[in-house]
Amino acid sequence: MTHPDPHVLALTGAVGSGKSTVASAFAALDVPCLDADLVARAIHQDPAHPAMAAIAAAFPQAMDSDGRLARGSLRSVFARDAAANAQLKQLLRPWVLEAARSWTAARHAPYVVWESALIGDQAIPAARVLVVDAPSQVRMARLALRNPDWTPTQVAAIFAMQPSREAYIEGAHDVIVNEGTPDALARMVQDLHRKYTSLWSTP
Ligand code: ADP
Repeated sequence: MTHPDPHVLALTGAVGSGKSTVASAFAALDVPCLDADLVARAIHQDPAHPAMAAIAAAFPQAMDSDGRLARGSLRSVFARDAAANAQLKQLLRPWVLEAARSWTAARHAPYVVWESALIGDQAIPAARVLVVDAPSQVRMARLALRNPDWTPTQVAAIFAMQPSREAYIEGAHDVIVNEGTPDALARMVQDLHRKYTSLWSTP
């Protein structure tokens, strides 16, 4: 029996805002969640993937000897070069979208979540966009806790390449301001889930 494709909820926000935590809260409510950044990683770690010829041609200095993007190159090469970073995203984007679409078509649910820090950069085909927002100081403190091996310079470089809070919020249908407790965050996700379920459940 055929079934309609689930609606897509794009979940985005700057690094450290709490996207992954929000995705876990949706997953706990049985909403299928896809991490688009992990999909991108699966592509650039597969030397046989058709995307890799163009990526290797554009960034020979970022490849390892097996034909993958070298470990650490995202931070060492792309975090320092906004143009290279944008070009890499551009090369990956159609493949990530194709993989995300076929993953979505195979799900049986009123809606699914696509999580990505990159969604804020460009319009993606989503029914709604949910942005997770938090003040820069809060995000920096969370990142320092989560990644003790990152130097302050690396954190600053990653922050500098993020679209502004305003740019994320501009494209949002819904915004979660994540500056309270994890419990408060979980309650906000439950409220949104009720809203999306009533919006997208077919009778
Ligand atoms: P993102 O996916 O946007 O980079 P994460 O969900 O990984 O952000 O959150 C960054 C860090 O902050 C994680 O270690 C997470 O556990 C923590 N965190 C997220 N939300 C909260 C919160 N409301 N209170 C305390 N810590 C939080």
